[in-house]
Amino acid sequence: MTNKASEGRNLYVLDHFEYCPKCGSNNLSRPKHISVVCSDCGFTLYFNPTSSAATFIENGDGKLLVIKRAREPSKGKFGLPGGFIDPGETAEECAIREAKEEVNLEIAKIDYLGSWPNTYLHKSVLYPVLDTYFIGHVENHQEALGDSSEVERIEYVDPAKVPEDQWAFPALKQAVKKYLETR
Ligand SMILES: [Zn+2]
Repeated sequence: MTNKASEGRNLYVLDHFEYCPKCGSNNLSRPKHISVVCSDCGFTLYFNPTSSAATFIENGDGKLLVIKRAREPSKGKFGLPGGFIDPGETAEECAIREAKEEVNLEIAKIDYLGSWPNTYLHKSVLYPVLDTYFIGHVENHQEALGDSSEVERIEYVDPAKVPEDQWAFPALKQAVKKYLETR
Protein backbone atom coordinates (compact mmCIF):
# COMPACT_ATOMS: atom_id res chain seq x y z
CA MET A 1 0.00 0.00 0.00
CA THR A 2 1.18 3.48 -0.78
CA ASN A 3 0.42 6.35 1.51
CA LYS A 4 0.78 9.39 -0.69
CA ALA A 5 0.17 12.85 0.63
CA SER A 6 -2.42 13.43 -2.12
CA GLU A 7 -4.54 10.37 -1.28
CA GLY A 8 -8.18 11.18 -0.61
CA ARG A 9 -7.76 14.88 -1.20
CA ASN A 10 -9.61 16.84 -3.86
CA LEU A 11 -6.92 18.22 -6.13
CA TYR A 12 -6.75 19.82 -9.51
CA VAL A 13 -5.81 17.13 -12.04
CA LEU A 14 -2.19 18.31 -12.48
CA ASP A 15 -1.53 18.24 -8.75
CA HIS A 16 -2.23 14.51 -8.48
CA PHE A 17 1.04 13.82 -10.34
CA GLU A 18 3.82 13.40 -7.79
CA TYR A 19 6.18 11.43 -10.05
CA CYS A 20 6.96 11.50 -13.75
CA PRO A 21 4.95 8.66 -15.41
CA LYS A 22 7.89 8.01 -17.78
CA CYS A 23 11.04 8.04 -15.61
CA GLY A 24 9.72 8.19 -12.04
CA SER A 25 11.48 11.44 -11.12
CA ASN A 26 9.72 13.79 -8.72
CA ASN A 27 11.41 16.77 -10.34
CA LEU A 28 8.19 18.08 -11.92
CA SER A 29 7.06 21.57 -12.81
CA ARG A 30 3.63 22.83 -13.86
CA PRO A 31 4.14 25.78 -16.22
CA LYS A 32 1.06 28.06 -16.29
CA HIS A 33 -0.73 25.19 -14.55
CA ILE A 34 -1.74 23.62 -17.86
CA SER A 35 0.98 20.96 -18.15
CA VAL A 36 3.24 18.71 -16.10
CA VAL A 37 6.88 18.80 -17.27
CA CYS A 38 9.62 16.47 -16.02
CA SER A 39 12.91 18.33 -15.61
CA ASP A 40 14.90 15.08 -15.80
CA CYS A 41 13.59 13.35 -18.96
CA GLY A 42 11.56 16.14 -20.60
CA PHE A 43 8.26 14.25 -20.50
CA THR A 44 5.40 16.75 -20.97
CA LEU A 45 1.70 16.15 -20.44
CA TYR A 46 -0.95 18.80 -21.15
CA PHE A 47 -4.28 19.14 -19.37
CA ASN A 48 -6.44 21.43 -21.46
CA PRO A 49 -10.12 21.50 -20.53
CA THR A 50 -12.23 18.47 -21.28
CA SER A 51 -15.43 19.23 -23.22
CA SER A 52 -19.05 18.64 -22.43
CA ALA A 53 -22.35 19.32 -24.18
CA ALA A 54 -25.82 19.85 -22.72
CA THR A 55 -29.19 20.81 -24.18
CA PHE A 56 -32.12 23.05 -23.29
CA ILE A 57 -35.27 21.20 -24.38
CA GLU A 58 -38.72 22.80 -24.06
CA ASN A 59 -42.02 21.02 -24.39
CA GLY A 60 -44.94 22.46 -26.36
CA ASP A 61 -46.11 24.48 -23.32
CA GLY A 62 -42.83 26.40 -23.01
CA LYS A 63 -41.68 24.37 -20.00
CA LEU A 64 -38.03 23.36 -19.78
CA LEU A 65 -36.99 19.76 -19.20
CA VAL A 66 -34.62 19.50 -16.23
CA ILE A 67 -32.93 16.56 -14.61
CA LYS A 68 -32.84 16.26 -10.86
CA ARG A 69 -29.35 14.89 -10.34
CA ALA A 70 -29.10 11.50 -8.63
CA ARG A 71 -25.36 11.75 -7.98
CA GLU A 72 -22.70 14.06 -6.72
CA PRO A 73 -21.51 16.60 -7.69
CA SER A 74 -24.58 18.76 -7.03
CA LYS A 75 -26.87 15.85 -6.12
CA GLY A 76 -30.53 16.95 -5.95
CA LYS A 77 -29.95 20.08 -8.03
CA PHE A 78 -31.19 20.72 -11.55
CA GLY A 79 -29.08 19.89 -14.58
CA LEU A 80 -29.80 19.40 -18.25
CA PRO A 81 -29.42 16.29 -20.40
CA GLY A 82 -25.74 16.25 -21.27
CA GLY A 83 -22.34 14.78 -20.66
CA PHE A 84 -18.72 14.55 -21.72
CA ILE A 85 -17.79 14.52 -25.39
CA ASP A 86 -16.21 11.28 -26.62
CA PRO A 87 -13.03 11.36 -28.74
CA GLY A 88 -14.00 11.86 -32.39
CA GLU A 89 -17.50 13.08 -31.57
CA THR A 90 -18.83 16.58 -32.32
CA ALA A 91 -20.44 18.62 -29.56
CA GLU A 92 -23.77 18.38 -31.42
CA GLU A 93 -23.50 14.58 -31.69
CA CYS A 94 -22.74 14.38 -27.98
CA ALA A 95 -25.74 16.55 -27.08
CA ILE A 96 -28.06 14.37 -29.20
CA ARG A 97 -26.60 11.11 -27.84
CA GLU A 98 -26.87 12.22 -24.22
CA ALA A 99 -30.50 13.36 -24.65
CA LYS A 100 -31.32 9.88 -25.97
CA GLU A 101 -29.37 8.08 -23.22
CA GLU A 102 -30.47 10.19 -20.26
CA VAL A 103 -34.07 11.15 -21.04
CA ASN A 104 -34.98 9.02 -24.09
CA LEU A 105 -35.73 12.01 -26.34
CA GLU A 106 -34.91 12.32 -30.05
CA ILE A 107 -33.62 15.79 -30.87
CA ALA A 108 -34.79 16.69 -34.38
CA LYS A 109 -32.97 20.04 -34.67
CA ILE A 110 -30.24 21.60 -32.60
CA ASP A 111 -28.99 25.19 -32.28
CA TYR A 112 -25.86 26.46 -30.57
CA LEU A 113 -26.34 28.67 -27.50
CA GLY A 114 -22.83 29.27 -26.15
CA SER A 115 -19.93 27.91 -24.09
CA TRP A 116 -18.80 28.55 -20.54
CA PRO A 117 -15.86 27.26 -18.48
CA ASN A 118 -16.63 24.94 -15.60
CA THR A 119 -14.90 22.53 -13.24
CA TYR A 120 -15.99 19.00 -12.43
CA LEU A 121 -14.98 16.99 -9.38
CA HIS A 122 -14.85 13.21 -9.85
CA LYS A 123 -13.22 10.81 -7.37
CA SER A 124 -11.03 13.54 -5.84
CA VAL A 125 -9.82 14.82 -9.24
CA LEU A 126 -10.88 18.34 -10.16
CA TYR A 127 -11.10 18.67 -13.96
CA PRO A 128 -11.23 21.91 -15.92
CA VAL A 129 -14.15 21.65 -18.37
CA LEU A 130 -15.52 23.68 -21.24
CA ASP A 131 -19.31 23.31 -21.25
CA THR A 132 -21.09 23.86 -24.55
CA TYR A 133 -24.85 24.44 -24.49
CA PHE A 134 -27.43 23.88 -27.20
CA ILE A 135 -31.15 24.41 -27.71
CA GLY A 136 -32.74 21.18 -28.87
CA HIS A 137 -36.08 20.85 -30.62
CA VAL A 138 -38.02 17.67 -29.90
CA GLU A 139 -41.18 16.69 -31.73
CA ASN A 140 -42.47 14.02 -29.36
CA HIS A 141 -42.20 14.49 -25.61
CA GLN A 142 -44.40 11.47 -24.84
CA GLU A 143 -41.41 9.19 -24.61
CA ALA A 144 -39.44 11.28 -22.11
CA LEU A 145 -38.02 9.09 -19.35
CA GLY A 146 -35.46 9.67 -16.65
CA ASP A 147 -34.28 6.12 -16.13
CA SER A 148 -30.52 6.64 -16.29
CA SER A 149 -28.58 6.03 -13.06
CA GLU A 150 -27.56 9.69 -13.17
CA VAL A 151 -31.14 10.94 -13.12
CA GLU A 152 -33.28 10.97 -9.97
CA ARG A 153 -36.24 12.16 -12.02
CA ILE A 154 -37.10 14.56 -14.80
CA GLU A 155 -39.29 17.59 -14.34
CA TYR A 156 -40.72 20.30 -16.58
CA VAL A 157 -40.23 23.73 -15.06
CA ASP A 158 -40.59 27.41 -15.89
CA PRO A 159 -36.88 28.27 -16.14
CA ALA A 160 -37.53 31.92 -15.24
CA LYS A 161 -38.96 30.81 -11.86
CA VAL A 162 -36.22 28.40 -10.76
CA PRO A 163 -34.14 29.88 -7.89
CA GLU A 164 -30.59 30.49 -9.11
CA ASP A 165 -29.00 28.22 -6.50
CA GLN A 166 -31.09 25.28 -7.69
CA TRP A 167 -29.01 25.02 -10.89
CA ALA A 168 -26.23 22.44 -10.51
CA PHE A 169 -23.21 24.37 -11.82
CA PRO A 170 -22.05 27.99 -12.14
CA ALA A 171 -21.61 27.54 -15.91
CA LEU A 172 -25.21 26.32 -16.14
CA LYS A 173 -26.41 29.44 -14.29
CA GLN A 174 -24.71 31.57 -16.95
CA ALA A 175 -26.16 29.45 -19.75
CA VAL A 176 -29.67 29.76 -18.26
CA LYS A 177 -29.25 33.54 -18.20
CA LYS A 178 -28.43 33.63 -21.91
CA TYR A 179 -31.14 31.10 -22.68
CA LEU A 180 -33.77 33.29 -20.99
CA GLU A 181 -32.53 36.33 -22.95
CA THR A 182 -32.77 34.51 -26.28
CA ARG A 183 -36.17 32.86 -25.79
ZN1 LIG B 1 10.69 12.02 -16.40
